[in-house]
Formats: sequence, structure tokens, C-alpha cells
Amino acid sequence: MKINGQKNIKIAVQQKGRLNEKSLELLEQAGLDFESYKRKLYTRCRNFPLDILYVRDDDIPEYVADGIVDVGIVGEDVIYEQQVKVKQLAPLNFSYCSLNIACPSGFKIKKPTDLNGLKIATSYVNCLRKYLQKNKVKAEIIELSGSVEVAPSLDVADCICDVISTGGTMRINDLAPVFKLFDSQAVLIADPKSLKTKWKQEIIERLTMRIKSLVQARKTKYVMLNAPRQAVDKIIAMIPGVDSPTIVPLAKSDMVAVHSVVEEEIFWEVIENLKKAGATGILVSPIEKMII
Ligand code: ATP
Ligand code: ZN
Repeated sequence: MKINGQKNIKIAVQQKGRLNEKSLELLEQAGLDFESYKRKLYTRCRNFPLDILYVRDDDIPEYVADGIVDVGIVGEDVIYEQQVKVKQLAPLNFSYCSLNIACPSGFKIKKPTDLNGLKIATSYVNCLRKYLQKNKVKAEIIELSGSVEVAPSLDVADCICDVISTGGTMRINDLAPVFKLFDSQAVLIADPKSLKTKWKQEIIERLTMRIKSLVQARKTKYVMLNAPRQAVDKIIAMIPGVDSPTIVPLAKSDMVAVHSVVEEEIFWEVIENLKKAGATGILVSPIEKMII
């Protein structure tokens, strides 16, 4: 899209649904300034050469693969199901879920071939077919476009194959996951053709860098603590920093201050170990951006 001589790339995000809010928040926190999308089909960023299109998430992989837009934010599950050719640029760390085959809790399903002869309802027909073929299971696939989890209680199918995050909806319908096909999260994807067009590729790279540094920062905390000098080596070994932690001597000569970053995932474990090793005055703060 070219307006007033300025060339913009286009990104597709979900118009409404589970991905919408987090996708927009990500773009905003990456420093992009754009008008509220409400009632609009597309908006233009004020401070970055990017137009944002609001579409159904199922359309995003195809829009990207066909070059209608250059990049998109969508769940990996939709990409796997649609089997389109797009380039994954960055995992985004939200909308975690997994695709599972689930059966009524009374079913005794131990191995995939125990599904032989059963009817499985799903909207992930391609993913399920591949899984059944790979595991040599002869089951019937019932294609549904939504509310798959009620299929067994309506006698439309015996089991289902659907995405879950906490599994709450399945439990309510008395279903238990038996086999996991794959894990999924939201990802930033690009049209391989756009990546071969120099001006587009440059903008995509700038956008990806911003998003990656934001995602990395969200995963990481900045930790400051005081430690007895003789415990420093032990403490440093416990905090795997970006490079190596900063050690600052304190006025009290037997103490030093240690500054470092810690990944959110191992955060509490590291803090507990640090306390045991004699760390005091532990301060933890979020990191806004992390450029590595
Ligand atoms: P649209 O109207 O845009 O087609 P939709 O109903 O198909 O929306 P949503 O329910 O908003 O899609 O889900 C979008 C994505 O959110 C899924 O593709 C998946 O990647 C992710 N997701 C995360 N957790 C769950 C969950 N518990 N159930 C379903 N999808 C989930
Ligand atoms: Zn959808």
C-alpha cells in the first residue's frame, strides 16, 4: 500500500477472538502508534511504515502465503492445519495451547490403535488425518467447524480432537485428553516473497527485531541483590546472566551488590537458592526491552 509516496508493509491480526488483544498489545508495546481498530478493517501506523489489517484468524496464513499481507500474527495450530508456505519469524509467547485427542472419561484408550473404529470430531481435519495415518489408526473423521467438545454427548462422535489450554472445557464435557498431537503458541509469520523484496525485507527485519526484543524482555527479570563477598562465586554460578553479572562493591566492605537478569521460567527457583546462599535485599524489576 502506497499513500503520499510512503511505502508500507501490511500485517494481518485477528479482528476479534483470543489472539486479538494480545496481538495489539504486542504491537503497541513494540513502540507502534496506531489508532484504535474498532469498527475499522485496517489502520495505519503513525510512526512506522506498517498498515494493520483486521481479519479472521483462519484467513491469516493464506493471506500471508498469497502476499495479500506481508506478515501476520497467528497460532501455530492454524498454520499446521492449513499447510501453507510461510516463514516463521518469531514465537510470541502467548496463546499457548495444544491439539489433543480426547475421549469420554470412561474410555480405556492406552495406545493410538485403541481408537480403531471410533468416530473423532474435529475442525483440525488435516492434522488429525496425518496423526491417524502415522499411527496406522483406522478411525472416522467427523469434520465440525466449532463446538467440537459437545459432539460426544450429542452422539455425533465418540471422541474429539481439539485445542486445549487448561483443559477446563473438556472436563466440563467429561472428556479427558489421551494423546497430544502438538503444542502451539502465537507466532509472527511472513510471506517468503516479501522477504526477497529488499524494501519490504528491511521493514520486516526492523519489526521483527522490535518484537523479539519485547518478547525476550517479557521473559526476563532484572535482579539486584546484596551478597557477602565470600559467597559471590557461589551466587554468580546460580544466576546465568546475559553475559556475566555486574558486581559492585558496597560501603560495607564485606558485602557486594550483584546485578543480573534471570529468565522468568526459572525465576523463583533461582531466588530461593540465592537466599539460601546468603543473598539479602533482593530487588526484582521488569525489563522493558532487551536487545541482544
Ligand atoms: P475467528 O473468528 O478469528 O476465526 P476462532 O474462534 O477461530 O476466531 P479463537 O477461539 O479466537 O479462534 O482462537 C484463536 C487461537 O487461539 C487458536 O487458533 C489457538 O492458537 C489459540 N488458543 C489458545 N488457547 C485456546 C483454547 N483454549 N481454545 C482454543 N484456541 C486457543
Ligand atoms: Zn478461527
